Amino acid sequence: MADLHGLQRAVAGVHAGKLAGDLAGYLESDPAGDLPGHLRGLFPVLAQHVNGAPLAYLDNAATTQTPLPVLDAMRDFELHERANIHRGVHTLSQRATNAFDRAREVLKRFVGAGPAHELVFTSGTTDALNQVAHGLSTAGAGPALLRPGDQIVVSGLEHHANLVPWQQAARRCGATLRILLPDAQGRLHAEDLKRLLTPRTRIFALTACANATGERPPYETLLALAASAGALTVLDAAQAMGHEVPDFGALACDFMAFSGHKMYGPMGTGALVGRRAALERLVPLRYGGDMVAWVTYADASFADLPARLEGGTPNVAGAVGLAAAAAFIDRVGRSRIDVHVRALRAHAASGLAAIDGVTVLSPATGSAGASAIVSFVAEGVHPHDIGTLLDEQGIAVRTGHHCAQPLTDHLGLGPTTRASFALYNTHDEVERLLAGVARATKVLR
Ligand code: PMP
Repeated sequence: MADLHGLQRAVAGVHAGKLAGDLAGYLESDPAGDLPGHLRGLFPVLAQHVNGAPLAYLDNAATTQTPLPVLDAMRDFELHERANIHRGVHTLSQRATNAFDRAREVLKRFVGAGPAHELVFTSGTTDALNQVAHGLSTAGAGPALLRPGDQIVVSGLEHHANLVPWQQAARRCGATLRILLPDAQGRLHAEDLKRLLTPRTRIFALTACANATGERPPYETLLALAASAGALTVLDAAQAMGHEVPDFGALACDFMAFSGHKMYGPMGTGALVGRRAALERLVPLRYGGDMVAWVTYADASFADLPARLEGGTPNVAGAVGLAAAAAFIDRVGRSRIDVHVRALRAHAASGLAAIDGVTVLSPATGSAGASAIVSFVAEGVHPHDIGTLLDEQGIAVRTGHHCAQPLTDHLGLGPTTRASFALYNTHDEVERLLAGVARATKVLR
């Protein structure tokens, strides 16, 4: 068994290299150990009481917590390398530029991007998806890719971030927005997509995991179908990156977006990964410094990718932290995390379904897919009241429409309560959730 105090002593050090080494030693000393094991000690925020009870943080689909090695990597950059990138001949600027470039390479490898692909740093998934929708619906040197009468197909499982930008793009270009609706269980079907695709379908946008229900659609198949019909394909990977990292290079995918704060990384960071040829088609959303090649008073020419889509000073410490989060996930083991969060989800889903009056959304996801999210409604009890009662017991869950109002409306359910799991959660916390919900439904009904 690994020595928790040794680990904590290591964590108390501020040197990132030393800490990374100690983390590796720690993981190797207990390679087959069950998660979360002592890894929980790397997340100090979890070691607190809320409303008199130990915090059970089950709101990871909104934001995961950040481990000390990630914070340490960012602190190390700020303490020793902070400078603006690309512009300076001085040593610190070059070191900062190197740190930024290294972070990009780490993340490209993490998502399986190859030489034909590029990764653009963004402030998150919303930013990345807006850049794509804007970039394809705005005229640049030539006309916009989207023309009147073209079709955009978006799945009905999407977060508002992968729907509203497409509504706006369609409006801007006179294109038609079509929705690939899920069935009553919240599942998407290839046959339905086949019926929607036409020679005028230019875009197909899909989530790798629905944040409101936990449904993990067969995105590999659906993206391939849309691509073979000639559409550009967009994957919102926000809810997958923390455990089931999509292999971008193996997908029929042109653009993939994700956020750092849902994969143990810093808030306000993220990326847009794309095929170079597809990224080249995006008209930039942000014009200014660092994204230009040559500027006169009258006009400008633009830099190559990725700089062309990264106007302005980027969040360099954030990029370093995001790469450290990817390295952390790989050190712990993607499949190990995935198995753990799916087991927690399955435990929670079966326990919740056994509570009188409770309906679990997308109930089979735990076995069929790779989701870390369970969403449910309780007859006659408002989710907000359940969330409040759980909070009184130190249990953090999310309630509401989860920024996917059309989906919860379509399923006829309205707001839901959502619990979502990360590598540091335990089966004891699931038991506390189940006891809390059972009590809440009795007290509140
Ligand atoms: N897509 C999905 C599936 C999400 O869950 C979220 C965050 N809840 C987003 C997009 C938006 O991510 P961000 O707020 O980090 O831009």
